[in-house]
Amino acid sequence: MPKASKKELFELYQDHQVQLLISKFVSDKPGVMKPIYDPKQGFSYPMVDDILGESSHTEEFLEKLYNGGVLDRELYDKIIYCPSCNSPNISVHYTCPYCKTFDVKKSALVEHIKCGYIETEDRFQNNGKLVCPRCKKELTSPDVDYNKAGVWCTCNKCSKSFDIPVPFHFCRECRTNFSFDDAIYKDVYSYSLTPEAAKEVNLGYALTVPVIEFLEDLGFTVESPGFLNGKSGTRHMFDLTAVSAGNKQSTTAIDFVTSSEDVVSEQSVISMFAKIFDATPDKACLVAIPKMSENGRKLASLYKIQLIEGKNQNSSIEALKACITE
Ligand SMILES: [Zn+2]
Ligand SMILES: [Zn+2]
Ligand SMILES: [Zn+2]
Repeated sequence: MPKASKKELFELYQDHQVQLLISKFVSDKPGVMKPIYDPKQGFSYPMVDDILGESSHTEEFLEKLYNGGVLDRELYDKIIYCPSCNSPNISVHYTCPYCKTFDVKKSALVEHIKCGYIETEDRFQNNGKLVCPRCKKELTSPDVDYNKAGVWCTCNKCSKSFDIPVPFHFCRECRTNFSFDDAIYKDVYSYSLTPEAAKEVNLGYALTVPVIEFLEDLGFTVESPGFLNGKSGTRHMFDLTAVSAGNKQSTTAIDFVTSSEDVVSEQSVISMFAKIFDATPDKACLVAIPKMSENGRKLASLYKIQLIEGKNQNSSIEALKACITE
């Protein structure tokens, strides 16, 4: 399957709509996004429609993310569309192979084991009991007295009988009959984040998306990731940069760091310091989840990095808001 290059993937992650979708996967934890079925609309993905603001590009959008290696997909169902009107509101008609009507009666075949007589079940029905029409014995125990011997169809139009009807599709909207040959037959998928994307964004986007929105509401110009040029000529990347509005523009650089262990190591403070020493933003915030090591705290205060610690994403976001607006 085609996968995007690092650069293409990076561009995908830049797309605000992609970020929103990923943050939904991370924050709402749907795990697997399943399509919702409606007979009039067919399958849809309301979560994606909401993000895109309409539904006409949803399929294309998901295809792009699948090809880009952001989403995995699995075959969830198949859907049939009418070749005449494109409606997904389709039923199956089992038709008579002789006269093509769907006015066909389906019956069970019953075999009286002892005498070998086989007939449709209704012929055995006798005042609520099953009685063999040939030998007149009553049949009481399935598998002992009688077997179900398959199905038998009778056409109510031409009166012919047959065991295998011919399936046809019927459009409930425009009432067209069509065969499998003419049917529009499509795959329907469920989606999940690829392990790579999940790893990549595990912290990043769940945090950055709400922070970006909050900063933009305050009038900041936000880039994520954000780049600042250093005195040395090196371009430094931060998880987020925010430039305040107004005459005296000030730049804030924000990095997020997380640890699956108890504490985040001071290495993250040192690497942020190396960047801000060169790039000189007006303010530097380092968000550490769940908390920073003791050494890291000391270094952050020495290096004038605003350290924000939060047990989880939400409390970190709140603390970051407080830090930026102070
Ligand atoms: Zn139709
Ligand atoms: Zn017929
Ligand atoms: Zn019998």
